Amino acid sequence: MSKPKIAIFDFACCEGCQLQIVNLEEELLDVLGGADVVEWREAMSEKSDEYDIAIVEGSITRLEDEERLKLIRSRAKVLIALGACATIGGINKLKNNFDLDEVKTCVYGKDAQKPHLATELTKALDEVVPVDFYVHGCPIDRKEFTYIVRCLLLGKTPEIPEYPVCVECKAKGNPCLWEYGQVCLGPIIRAGCGARCPSNGFRCFGCRGYIDNPNVDAAKDVIEKYGLSVEQLKTKMVLFGSQQEPTIHE
Ligand code: SF4
Ligand code: SF4
Ligand code: SF4
Repeated sequence: MSKPKIAIFDFACCEGCQLQIVNLEEELLDVLGGADVVEWREAMSEKSDEYDIAIVEGSITRLEDEERLKLIRSRAKVLIALGACATIGGINKLKNNFDLDEVKTCVYGKDAQKPHLATELTKALDEVVPVDFYVHGCPIDRKEFTYIVRCLLLGKTPEIPEYPVCVECKAKGNPCLWEYGQVCLGPIIRAGCGARCPSNGFRCFGCRGYIDNPNVDAAKDVIEKYGLSVEQLKTKMVLFGSQQEPTIHE
């Protein structure tokens, strides 16, 4: 039986999630040993239009990106969104809070109107094409990536947490950062990172995106308990929450 073919692509991003894959070092050979990697710009020069699994990093910010992504989707049986830029639009979606002409002028100055610098509102991959699996985080968690790829190569469906970061944080016995005046987004953000930030004294800033069904009442109770408003909480959600559906309403 021939090995499944994997291709790795990138759009607008810092390529930090691909770097996490490269950093797997020897484990990378073990994980991808059950597949043929046929294209991966960051690590090899070969290219191919034939692949079974497309792993796509980055968000979509130009019309030509949309066309390229649709082509990738049409060739792949399975499409994996890699990292927050791809899964939720990531930091790149901050741009969507401003007028696009203002953004372009701020970045490119007098050259802003040159055609090759045209830009559009940032989109996550699933705003353009269907996505089969998501590797969340900015950057991704290497263990979660290897788990998802191994599952797919074994024909299994990976299970991604459907509960909030607080669950992992409490399980580690961390003191809650709200007690120390930090507005932590753990109650509404998808777990799976092992509560990486709160375990190191930093608030969760939401890089894994919102859980599908957050306990909004419990989140409101926490906000009220610490004397904050929903509006104050929303200011903390801008970094990774711009133009995601707001999950907490007044
Ligand atoms: S999700 Fe974060 S680390 Fe990954 S490519 Fe985007 S900005 Fe870079
Ligand atoms: S520190 Fe954050 S993640 Fe941990 S329990 Fe408190 S709100 Fe939840
Ligand atoms: S704690 Fe929050 S911000 Fe930190 S890695 Fe996990 S989901 Fe991302």
